[in-house]
This record gives sequence, C-alpha cells and structure tokens, in this order.
Amino acid sequence: MTIEITGHAQWQAWQSGTFPPVEKVAEGVWSIPLPLPANPLRYVLVYALECRGGVVLVDAGWDDEPSWQALGSGLATAGYGVQDVRAVLVTHQHPDHLGLAARIREASGAWVALHRLDARPAGAPRTAEEHGLLLHAQLVEHGAPVDEADRILAALDMSWLEREPRPDVLLEDGEIIRLPGRELTTIWTPGHSPGHSCFYDRTREALFSGDHVLPRITPQVAVHATTTDDPLGRFLVSLERLEGLPVDEVLPAHEYRFRGLDRRLRVMARHHTDRLAELSALLSAAPGTTAWDLARTVTWSRPWDSFTPVSRRFALGETLAHLRLLEARREARPVRRPEEPVRWFDVLA
Ligand SMILES: [Zn+2]
Ligand SMILES: [Zn+2]
Repeated sequence: MTIEITGHAQWQAWQSGTFPPVEKVAEGVWSIPLPLPANPLRYVLVYALECRGGVVLVDAGWDDEPSWQALGSGLATAGYGVQDVRAVLVTHQHPDHLGLAARIREASGAWVALHRLDARPAGAPRTAEEHGLLLHAQLVEHGAPVDEADRILAALDMSWLEREPRPDVLLEDGEIIRLPGRELTTIWTPGHSPGHSCFYDRTREALFSGDHVLPRITPQVAVHATTTDDPLGRFLVSLERLEGLPVDEVLPAHEYRFRGLDRRLRVMARHHTDRLAELSALLSAAPGTTAWDLARTVTWSRPWDSFTPVSRRFALGETLAHLRLLEARREARPVRRPEEPVRWFDVLA
C-alpha cells in the first residue's frame, strides 16, 4: 500500500530539513521550490511548463520577497525570466499558491486562472476585521471559551484576504487549457478548498495535484466560518474521482513527487474513515459534547496542549468537517439552543 517516491532529491531534502533543488522533472517541466514563512511544510513546489514563447506556471507561491527571489532564480535555472511567464494556473485560493500571482502578472502580463469557486465571491466578507468577527463567533458557537477565541483571533493575520489577487480566467471542471505544445485538463477536486482543481496532462500522464493529493500528509479539510456545505463529503468524492486515472507521476505542491496515485487515494480515504469512526464512538460515549471538546479529545499526531492557537482553530474546523459529514449521513445531529454552544449527539441518543 505504499507509494513509490520519484522525487528523490525532494525527499532527501524533506528528511534532512533542507531546501530541495530546482529540478527538471520531465521534458519541458521544471519544479521550483519557493520558501514558506513559519510553516512546517517549509516550501511550495511551483511548476514551470515550457511552452512555445515562454513558460506557464502551476501555482505561484507565497507573496513575499524571498519567494519572489527564489522564483526569479528558479526560472533563470530553466533559462527564463519572470517576464517570460505567459499564464499562472492556480490550483486553489490559499496564499501559498495564489500569493505571488498578481506580482507575476504585473511583471509579465500573464493571465491568472483559478476555479470559479475559489475566486473571492462578490458579497463575501471583505475586510480582515469582518472575517475575524465571523471566525470568533464560529469558535464560540462551537464551544471554544471566549479567551481561547480571543487568543486565536489575535494570532491570525487575515490581511491576505484583502490582498487576494483576482483571477483573469475562471476555470470550470473539465475545462481544457490549451497551451502552445501542451494541453492540461482541469479536474475539479473540491474539499481542501471549494474550487481546488488538479491539472492533468493526459499525454504525459502527469497530474499536478496541488494540495489535494500529497504523499505524506492529508490536506486540511475544514468547515470555516463561511462554509455552508459538506467539505469532507466533497473531498472524499474528489478522491474517488481520481481513482483509475492513468497517472504515471503525481506532482504535488508540497513534499515530493511520487508514483502510485490509487494507493495513496485509498490511504487518504481510510484516514478519514477512521476519524469518522472515532468521532462516532466519542459521541456515543459522551452525547451532547461540543465540537471544541471533541477536537480536544480526538487523536492528533501531537498532544492538544502543544497546539498553537492557530492549530486549535484548524483542529476545530477539521472536527466540524467530520461532524458535518456524519450529520449528512444521519449518523450525528447538532442541537442548537439559545445562548448555548452547539451540542452534538449520535442519532440514537
Ligand atoms: Zn492549501
Ligand atoms: Zn499548500
């Protein structure tokens, strides 16, 4: 059930805590790692695809000076400059992927493409402050003590939401992106974000998987303050969608390249099946628990006490995503009473 690592230099770098090299990973495809500030993932892998007359990027890295410099020198290794970028295909809206897109566009005239559902919707909260208020309310609604919610809010920098670049092209599922000498199919894989999309090169059987499929970790799938649907349900369908796709190599946005997509999909799905079972068992044992208390109780790779305020927020979001899927399957139900946090029950209680 294990994958076969193909990005050996990336894996070595991962193991030794160093930065992977800029690499030519296939004919006309370069992998350019860009640094991530204060993030255990350490780098995002931007891919530069050589096309007639320039390059097309898959993802754009974090919006800061070290990333900009690393992008410039990475492109130089491939024989290009930022001005040669013709397009930026962004797998999803997160700032480590969409970050530099606007600056690249400004320097090159490139067009930026993103799935329709990941482009900031009109009418969504606009300011970081509005987002903060919504998040605080969500934390308290689901059982976080007010002082914890205050700490989480104080630790978050949401200014990105006001700077988020707007795409020039809105992608749809199945859309074929025709580049000179290369064709990529957009495969909509919602879950990690509403519009997350992978880009598939059918001819070369290469999948640019963004954060949807990573070799070592499962991406975060969370209910955020503005989430109205069932992101984990969507994510599991998105894993199934890729099953059986002829893919020789997976080119993810973090960690390292690998072979064995179907095996990885099954392991990732099982992680969530196990987590759903664990939450169901906790609900039967302690009916009426809040999502916050469940988040504190479920098994994480580290003890809850060592979680930073920001990790606690994500832990709540992920727990809520599992609860919402259990609710959709009619295996759990939330009970809302005025002036009280939402309490969860298994259906038998
Ligand atoms: Zn992401
Ligand atoms: Zn990412």
